[in-house]
Amino acid sequence: MNEFQLINQFFKSIPALRKDVLLGIGDDAACVQIPPGMNLLVSTDTLVSGIHFLPEWDAYDIACKAVMVNVSDMAAMAAEPCWLTLALTLPNLDPQWLQAFSKGLQDSLMPYRIALIGGDTTKGPLSITLTIMGLVPEGNAVTRKGAKPGDVIWVSGELGEAALAVKWLDKEDAPESEKEQLMNKLLHPTPRIDLTHYLRSYATSAIDISDGLSADLNHICEESRVGACLDQGAIPIAPLLTKHLGKEALDLALAGGDDYELCFTVPQARCDALIDELKKNKLVCYPIGTIEEELGLRIKRVDGHCDLLAPRGYSHF
Ligand code: ADP
Ligand code: MG
Repeated sequence: MNEFQLINQFFKSIPALRKDVLLGIGDDAACVQIPPGMNLLVSTDTLVSGIHFLPEWDAYDIACKAVMVNVSDMAAMAAEPCWLTLALTLPNLDPQWLQAFSKGLQDSLMPYRIALIGGDTTKGPLSITLTIMGLVPEGNAVTRKGAKPGDVIWVSGELGEAALAVKWLDKEDAPESEKEQLMNKLLHPTPRIDLTHYLRSYATSAIDISDGLSADLNHICEESRVGACLDQGAIPIAPLLTKHLGKEALDLALAGGDDYELCFTVPQARCDALIDELKKNKLVCYPIGTIEEELGLRIKRVDGHCDLLAPRGYSHF
């Protein structure tokens, strides 16, 4: 099998589920129709073997994770994910691996009706770069820039399970069902596309928690030129962390990456309406603190005492 047969069999075969793809895989460039009145959003994420995933992981899971972390970036901007390109570097041509990878791509793109419209295939150490493109009505993208003093800080779900999964990778005496639950969170995070409407209607800023809550909230603070105070008792620590880790549970919830929940800010006066609407739609988000004028991150302990909080999370360099 050569490079072109490989592309045809494993990538061109994935159905493009969108009418707005005028040219997909097979030409020098893809061509899509952007509706009038919409902004195009573009984001790239690379997953490197040994850093973002282990080479022994199932290729199906690796593909799903690669798609999900990219979709999460669209969720964080309140954009509808639409198109994707894939730059794939492979150490060798392994049809079985590619078959599983292709199936993982197809299965994770289908529910969102995202079309794979192009890419590049090269030989080298295994790495996967996806570029995702999405749409948002003009001016409606939610950025990291708009947080204002007084805004309430929200997080969209419990934190820390993915970090505990990483911590437990080599642990042999972990309960099987719990390990499975954690690995599932690490391999198959659910990007919070279901919150797009709420972000557009209520949020002044948003980010997805890929590196860790404190590191990612710090990005909002720096971009918005504000500070933040978290309420320790309000941080939704995943129950498995509380069960197994004691004091370290809070640390992992604050600094563990890979959760792909959203952190966003909402003006105080809009929070009651948000709570009502979330409740009506059986969604749960957690208010965890307040944006403040004073720069930097702080955390209010359960006894009311305030400590400085160093932004910690994953950093490559
Ligand atoms: P070129 O030589 O013009 O760069 P390629 O031979 O790299 O073209 O790719 C041929 C076609 O296949 C292009 O449309 C490209 O977008 C697509 N393609 C290549 N690799 C992939 C891949 N891994 N996934 C999806 N599409 C791909
Ligand atoms: Mg090429």
